[in-house]
Amino acid sequence: MPIFEYQCKNCKKEFERLVFAGDEGKILCPECKSADISKKMSATSFMGASIGTCAADSPKQFS
Ligand SMILES: [Zn+2]
Repeated sequence: MPIFEYQCKNCKKEFERLVFAGDEGKILCPECKSADISKKMSATSFMGASIGTCAADSPKQFS
């Protein structure tokens, strides 16, 4: 789930939003309805990215 943290530049309110593709730019501050917000990196969005597979251990075969 792409959850991003935002901070309103107008009233300094911090909030989180679940953002789908194309929804960026339509996000308004829940406090003052300002569109002048900055995106922050949320720790929650990185937790899913740490899942990786290191099982590329296929044995080489010679014929
Ligand atoms: Zn605001």
